Amino acid sequence: PATLGVMGGGQLGRMFAHAAQSMGFKVAVLEPSSDCPAGQAADSMIVAGYDDQSALAALGAQCVAVTTEFENVPADSLALLAQQTFVAPAAQCVSVAQDRLLEKRFFVDCAPLSGVMPAPHKTIASTEDIDAIPDDLLPGILKTVRMGYDGKGQVRVKTRADVAAAFAAMNGVTCLLEKMLPLAYEVSVLTARGADGESVVYPIAENVHRDGILFTTTVPGPNVSDECALRAQDAARSIVAQLGYVGVLCIEFFVLQDGTLVVNEMAPRPHNSGHYTIDACVTSQFAQQVRAMARLPLGDVRQHSPAIMLNILGDVWYEGSGDAVREPDWAKVLALPGACLHLYGKEEPRRARKMGHLTLVAPSLAEAHAKLRSACAILNIGLDE
Ligand code: ATP
Ligand code: MG
Ligand code: MG
Repeated sequence: PATLGVMGGGQLGRMFAHAAQSMGFKVAVLEPSSDCPAGQAADSMIVAGYDDQSALAALGAQCVAVTTEFENVPADSLALLAQQTFVAPAAQCVSVAQDRLLEKRFFVDCAPLSGVMPAPHKTIASTEDIDAIPDDLLPGILKTVRMGYDGKGQVRVKTRADVAAAFAAMNGVTCLLEKMLPLAYEVSVLTARGADGESVVYPIAENVHRDGILFTTTVPGPNVSDECALRAQDAARSIVAQLGYVGVLCIEFFVLQDGTLVVNEMAPRPHNSGHYTIDACVTSQFAQQVRAMARLPLGDVRQHSPAIMLNILGDVWYEGSGDAVREPDWAKVLALPGACLHLYGKEEPRRARKMGHLTLVAPSLAEAHAKLRSACAILNIGLDE
């Protein structure tokens, strides 16, 4: 069998490996830490840094195609691999998504055709930049340009003094000040585009975040109108085409209280908000990534069941605020009809660490929601409704 390569050893690589293997491929993972979720599932592992030239050469030599599951893999490494084998997504696409400034500029450039703009923003690279902040960008959120995820590297700011303090605390890295927008709700659109330029767009997903981390994804979204779904899907299709992207990509949008659609960011890979596709769609986002990178026809994105995905963080291993941990009662969770449990094989259940996810599928969204309530009761997760 042919081997597909993955840069990165996290849960996205693990679920990718499962999908690839079920389609008859072997999977090789390159990741610096030998004990990782994707490594446990892969057929072979290269334990090395993401920029290790001989490791990259070894990966390129054994794989018919290479992808990435890690957003911050050095773009240069993907460019190097591309001299040897087919790489999707391409280095240039990944580097745009790695830099919030390039990403925002790209979204602005796309706007005439995509019809959506990013939040008003300004680069903050020096104290002079802080003096020049226009009044209407405050209150806002100061975000590091690179490396932020799950709300890390972000500070909410009200005044110029807040910006100065937050910027100083970021140790001189370039930041972006983004205007705080009045969100009604958040959605994401998962897309896949093949090397032949054909693209598919999954149903729109509605996302709820808690403490900066994705909490639930509900599809179909209870707040999403057909008109909003079409606008976001058209925008996503336009953006991936303008990027010349190959592979699975997820675009996050804000829907403002006045109905305006704002593009937030994109992830050049399968995405947490797309995990529901494993259990609720004909082709999962991971199977779709396999198809795109292996230059096979893209799969049917049809959703066959309403679904709610709940992220399972390390917190559910803890009772109260102490340090004692115990295994959650998975048997009780699995007794719920329509409960699909995915655990990532991580040994240490640290708080706020993504340990797994649970997708509740049901004939109706109301029933899926009832199961979510039951699952949250078993796992001691508060649901503020
Ligand atoms: P991810 O884990 O999704 O990659 P991230 O750390 O890259 O997250 P963002 O997605 O930019 O960060 O922001 C995290 C969350 O913060 C958003 O999902 C949204 O809830 C809130 N947020 C971000 N920017 C804004 C904004 N301009 N106005 C209002 N809320 C915002
Ligand atoms: Mg992000
Ligand atoms: Mg985000």
